[in-house]
Formats: sequence, structure tokens, C-alpha cells
Amino acid sequence: MLSTVGQRTGSAYVSATLLTCAVWVLCGVLTANAQTHDVQISINSQNTSRITIEGRLSAGAEDWSFRNVHAGVSGLGERISGLSLNDDNGASVVVRKLTPGEYKSDAKAFGFRYEIKLDPPAANAAAAHVSWLSARYGVLMLGDLLPVQSSTRASVKLKLPANWGVSSTEQKTSNSVYEVSDPEQVLFFVGENLRERGFRDGDFSFLFATIGAWAFDDGDAASLAMNLFREHRRVIGRRPRKNVLTVVAPFPHPAESSEWSAETRGATVFLLAGRAPSKNVALAQLSTPLAHELLHLWVPNDLTLSGDYDWFYEGFTLYQAMRVAMRLGYLNFHDYLKALGRAYDGYFAAEGHGQFSLVDASRRRWTGAEALIYNKGMLVAFLYDLTLRQQTQGTKSMDDIYRKLLRHSNRAGERREGNLVVIETLESMPGMTEFTTRHVESSMSIDLPASVQPFGLLANRFGARTHVSVAETLSRAQRSVLAGLGYSAQP
Ligand SMILES: [Zn+2]
Repeated sequence: MLSTVGQRTGSAYVSATLLTCAVWVLCGVLTANAQTHDVQISINSQNTSRITIEGRLSAGAEDWSFRNVHAGVSGLGERISGLSLNDDNGASVVVRKLTPGEYKSDAKAFGFRYEIKLDPPAANAAAAHVSWLSARYGVLMLGDLLPVQSSTRASVKLKLPANWGVSSTEQKTSNSVYEVSDPEQVLFFVGENLRERGFRDGDFSFLFATIGAWAFDDGDAASLAMNLFREHRRVIGRRPRKNVLTVVAPFPHPAESSEWSAETRGATVFLLAGRAPSKNVALAQLSTPLAHELLHLWVPNDLTLSGDYDWFYEGFTLYQAMRVAMRLGYLNFHDYLKALGRAYDGYFAAEGHGQFSLVDASRRRWTGAEALIYNKGMLVAFLYDLTLRQQTQGTKSMDDIYRKLLRHSNRAGERREGNLVVIETLESMPGMTEFTTRHVESSMSIDLPASVQPFGLLANRFGARTHVSVAETLSRAQRSVLAGLGYSAQP
């Protein structure tokens, strides 16, 4: 089963093994003559996990298909019941169920009505990836609620129980309708007495939303998210295309205080977290997944790339998010070395570690290679950044890769193949061609002790654990590279 829950038991650290998430990558481009869903979603106030969806599809359809699987969560189509369809004159149209989530009507139908059972998924980890509602709050993701039609827009009206509110990246029109240009990229966080904190920066807005009681104040968590966001934006040099919403909510079922699960969809970061008992521990625990998820707003969500380059936007992004958390003081150089050791251990333990290149592993993400993508991806990112800093006397770093990728990603242009573009960018840095071929495109095993020795680092393996430390004597160049990463010789 897909594990999307991170666990931490000590101080804040980054672990590729346990830090996994999902992003919703854009697949299509909207056309001018897009179908439009005109829908009303009503939450039953007596039984909040039951919703009714009714509406109209502008050009009609005979095939009615609902998403059945997302991010390893399956059986979504089985939640739907009572689908009824009408033709353009309002007359009933016969519809047959083919498989869960797949229906065919006898004639073209325009009007539709159905119910969905939105009980929270049994596994907490799945709750970041699909729609669900509890008695007090939940999430509505249009991607798994509306029929899947190519090139669809949606006008969405939400009918909520009393005292329930909505947080979303979408703007409401005067008649309380959300005009959604790409339904699969949008989610609505709904609940009783939701709380929001907003930041404005010129024409750009950053919204933080939460519910329930936490050890931290809303303002502390909102500032943490905003600081991480600002640092990403500073490094990358541009903001994401849309206003951003970050949601931090409790899991629907009881959870360990250190658990979390997240999904970044379009311009929304949706993060479910356990409740840590103290403010500092809770904020430290939030910083790593938040840094990673917020970076997804740009990579991959703001890149016009396609294909399976998950090794980069997950594995490398773990590394880059950790560097940002270090710069802001949430993690230190000691955490950096620990994370390097863990990435190696995770890589070593992952299925197929000496067998698949990063590119090959990404094609197998949902069929067993997920751990390899995160762990090997992060490990290679460590080595890439160290090598690049050494090659350029510290004048270039991983920051330059992210900046360059975004600079060359033309929002209006055609989607290019992700592996091709990222590999090209990695190779474009001085002296990095051979490294990229060897570590990204070839399946050659990584020997950490030999790989880090040139940087003045020692990797020793004790059983299944690798301990990384700084060598007693360092050359001037080694000292300079490590200092650039936060190392200080002072005790
Ligand atoms: Zn991720």
C-alpha cells in the first residue's frame, strides 16, 4: 500500500524514506470550446458525509466516467450511487453502469444528478489525496467528484450546513458561484468555523486556513508557511501563477503526533498533520513537509513539462526544500549530514536500487519503485549539489538549477518532455555532464563512502545505519564548500 505518512520521533529531520506526497500534474491544455459543468454540490446537514451533485454538461455526453484511482487510492467510483440523467428537454435518459465509476447512457444526456458517500478513507494517509467529509470538516476535490470529461470548465455552487465555511484559491462571483477553469486543479476546504490568515504582496495573495485546536497559534503556522514560500520565491525568482492557499488540518481519524500526509494540487497545499503537544515541536515538524509541498507550487506545478520525471520533482525537491529550511534556521548542518545518511540507507533498502536508473524508476513509481525515486533522487541531489559547488568554487548551487528551469519554462508554450529538459539543465552547469549521465541516466550503484570522500566527508555504515561526519582535516576548498552549506569548525 502506498505510504504517504511521514513520521518523526526526535528533533526535526528530513527523511526521504518517510516523506512522500502526491502532486497533481497537469495533463491537458484547455481548448476554446471546452465543455462546461454547471454544478451544485450540496452537503447533507443531517449526515455530512453524504453529498448530492446535480448539474448540467453544456455539450452533453453518452459516456459518464468518474475517477476510480488517484495516488494509489482505489475504489473511488464505488462511492457514487443513484446516477440519473436527462436529455436537453429534461426527459429522463436510461443509463447503465458498466463498472464502478463507468456509465453509458442510451442517448446523449445533459442534466445529471447523483450522490456520493464521502466517509473519510479508512487509512489516514489517503485522506490528503481524495475527497472526504467528517461531521465537522473535510475536503472536496473536484477531480474525484465530477464526471471526467476532456477540456472541462466548471461553475460550482456549494450548499453547506449552517456555520460551515469554504477556503479555496478560486474567487466567488457575485452570485456565490465559483468559476473554475481547471476542475482537476482545485479543491475546497470546508468545515465548521474555519479560520483563515491572509498575506498580501502587491497583487498576490497567500492564504492560510486551518481548523481545530493546535499547540501553535494560527499566526505562527501561517508565518512559517509564508516564510518558506517567500524563500522559495526569492530563490526561483518568480511567484507561482495563481494565488496560493495552504491548508493545515487534523487527520479525520486519531493519529500519532508526528504523522503527516499531503497533496499539492494546482495552487493549493493540503496538509494533514497529527497534533504535537508543544508549539516548538509542532512547528518544527510542520516545517519540512511544508517546505517540500510549497516548492511543488513551482515544481512541477508551474513547469510546462510532461512525462515521468518524478525523480526530480520529488527526490531533488526533497533536497532543495531541506536547504531552504536550513537557510531559515529550521534545520542545521547536523540535520543535513543525518539526512544524507538516511537517504543512503533508504536507497540501499529500496527495491531495485542497483537495477534502475532514476529515469527508469520514475516510470515504475506506482508499481514498486516509489521509495527508490525519493531516496535515490534525494541522494543524487546531495551529491550533485556538493559536486557543483566544488566545480564552481561555490559560485553555483542547486538554487541555480531551480531558477534556470523556471526561467526557461514558458507558461504559454508547448509542454516539453520533463526528463529531457531537466537532464539538459543539470548537464548545462560547468563540469556536470558526466555526473548527470552516471547518476541520473545510468543504473550504476552509488557507493556513498567513496562519493563523499572528495568533499571531506566520512560515511560509515553501522549495520543498516549510515553515519556521515566531517573529516578531521579539510583542504581549504573542502572547508569552503562545507561552509557554504552551513558547516562551522567552531564547537
Ligand atoms: Zn512531493
